[in-house]
Amino acid sequence: MTYKPTRYDADESIAAVLDDVARAHRILELEGHGDMSMGHLSYRDPWGRGLWLKRGNLALSEVEGDDFILIDFDGAVLQGTGLRHIEWPLHAEIMRARPDVNFVGHSHAHYATVLGAAEGEKLMPYNNHGVWFAEHDVPRYDKTAHIITEVHRGVEVAEALGEAQAIFLANHGVAFVGATVEEVTLTGIFLEKASRFQVDMRSAGLTPITPDPEEIKEKFARIYPKKAQGNFWMFFNRRLERYEEHFGIGMTTDIQH
Ligand SMILES: [Zn+2]
Repeated sequence: MTYKPTRYDADESIAAVLDDVARAHRILELEGHGDMSMGHLSYRDPWGRGLWLKRGNLALSEVEGDDFILIDFDGAVLQGTGLRHIEWPLHAEIMRARPDVNFVGHSHAHYATVLGAAEGEKLMPYNNHGVWFAEHDVPRYDKTAHIITEVHRGVEVAEALGEAQAIFLANHGVAFVGATVEEVTLTGIFLEKASRFQVDMRSAGLTPITPDPEEIKEKFARIYPKKAQGNFWMFFNRRLERYEEHFGIGMTTDIQH
């Protein structure tokens, strides 16, 4: 299928958000979420028509503002051209279950997938990134190791996610959500960083210190106020720009791992 760019019926407000969502994909690639052409983010359509989902057969590092299709909550393509990712029910069912969520991400980030595949392993606030998840924890969906291509599986994942910001999909990957593009991006980044920290501690055979839960609540409020979240988002954007000035859009990050 030949892909033809569209500008979303000239709705510039949607196009502007999708430019940011495209950058979020490329930032996540730099943060260890890339896995060939797998992984995708979606954006809830502000007109209630459904969701804008990254089109298929593109690496996270290759996504630009035109690379989205609008699907309804039953998966019918309403706008845009290109392949529809077969894991669309994951996005649609999380959005159906969570009116507070405007953005959903899914990837096979390495360290988070390692932790997700480990029996009984709970993500802990051992470092600052882990503190992001301290309130709701990161639940694990382990009813299947399959990818989430069926609606009933999407419903199960949404149920297991509950009010949390992220979920481990055992032997598969992760999903993460946000009300804003900043939030979903930071959630994806911090999930991988906190998982990496925990895997490193376990690999080194060190005994972790478990911080006091009350102190962790205060710590969250102190290190992650909205203003700081905006600053972190801008940092990751500047970093992306410097990287792309050098390598252009589309470079995968195997060189970093
Ligand atoms: Zn997947």
